Amino acid sequence: MSKRSEELFERAKKCIPGGVNSPVRAYRSVNMNPRFIERASGDRIIDVDGNEYIDYVCSWGPMILGHDHEAVRDAVTKAVKDGLSFGAATEKEVLMAELITDMVPGIEMVRMVNSGTEAVMSAIRAARGFTGRDKIIKFSGCYHGHADHMLVNAGSGLMTQGIPGSSGVTEGNAKDTLTAGYNDLNSVERLFDSNPDNIACVIVEPVAANMGVVLPEEGFLQGVRKFCDKNKALLIFDEVITGFRLSPGGAQEYFGVRADLCTYGKIIGGGMPVGAYGGRRDIMEVISPLGPVYQAGTLSGNPVAMAAGLAVLNILKNTKDLYPDLNKKSDEFFSEAEKILTASGVKHRINHIGSLGSIFFTDNVVSDHSSAGKSDTEMFTTYFKYMLENGIYIAPSQFEAMFISVSHSKEDLSKTLDVIRGFGK
Ligand SMILES: *Cc1c(COP(=O)(O)O)cnc(C)c1O
Repeated sequence: MSKRSEELFERAKKCIPGGVNSPVRAYRSVNMNPRFIERASGDRIIDVDGNEYIDYVCSWGPMILGHDHEAVRDAVTKAVKDGLSFGAATEKEVLMAELITDMVPGIEMVRMVNSGTEAVMSAIRAARGFTGRDKIIKFSGCYHGHADHMLVNAGSGLMTQGIPGSSGVTEGNAKDTLTAGYNDLNSVERLFDSNPDNIACVIVEPVAANMGVVLPEEGFLQGVRKFCDKNKALLIFDEVITGFRLSPGGAQEYFGVRADLCTYGKIIGGGMPVGAYGGRRDIMEVISPLGPVYQAGTLSGNPVAMAAGLAVLNILKNTKDLYPDLNKKSDEFFSEAEKILTASGVKHRINHIGSLGSIFFTDNVVSDHSSAGKSDTEMFTTYFKYMLENGIYIAPSQFEAMFISVSHSKEDLSKTLDVIRGFGK
């Protein structure tokens, strides 16, 4: 039953482009109309027609503790009573900055912003200001938000719609963005060689999670680090998804590779619109009002948003064995799914790391943008519909990640595996 969702979508299409405020939500790549969500609790999400699903989107990452976590709800409720926004410095921003610099290796200073897009935009500007160079290197299939210069060979919604870039981006804006292949160090070296002393930074998702999940091969992140050092370019880890997902210190800690700047979003706001960028003190000191790189925000460091983020990060930091338990439960889930799909003869490739994973419908290894793009998207569409009809809510695109939260129960994970088993039949 999706009567209310259908009605709302008809109304939405009349006054919102495509009926949605972010493209992938429209379900276009799976030829369906979207479900409108009413509420969520723990690992369950409920739509306006009363259908209940086990949720593997988790708001695209932020809900690592599950929906409607009591401590987060209490912190937000308390903050709301004190006032929604002051446009002035608050204690919560200090607590947040102290917590992040404490949890994440190498983050000496941090600035709060309102989204991952803004975090990336600002970090790139800081890198250009610091180095006095124009060009940047990104990787094909990585998504870094929708700033003009980032919409070149990007993943996520662009990959879902099958377009290499966005209309409305000027040539001037695109020409300083160079694209390398994920897991292809030679392509990085070639770009450095052909643009001597003109690369400000390399930005990378340390685990790519916007062309589906693609893991960095052994030595890839270390190799990128080495090329950056050799060419005096900065390395930016876009940790909007990986930050606080794999370990308290994010991918830097997980892989033992240090970036110069990192960008955050999603988990850091606990479901509120928050982003952050931070890193080496000498670089962050170029930011206004200390230095010449301007960056500002009326609602940046908003007290209600900080309350949510602080509550989540404090739990992540202080709960013993939270990450080992989450990663173990997720490993078991994905290896069981692997067994089931192998036994059923469905062509597939599962890429996963901790609580982040993707099931691709292909026989090939998926290690970059072009191999991810070879997945059978028609098969995915069939799979998506089947999962939804059977109470499992996954992202409506082959090229997005699946997220497991602390609140996913053993019963619900095994129920999900039973549904996957049914798909193979
Ligand atoms: C989601 C995402 C962004 C953009 O964040 P928004 O909050 O959607 O602007 C940037 N980088 C990565 C890696 C992301 O996954």
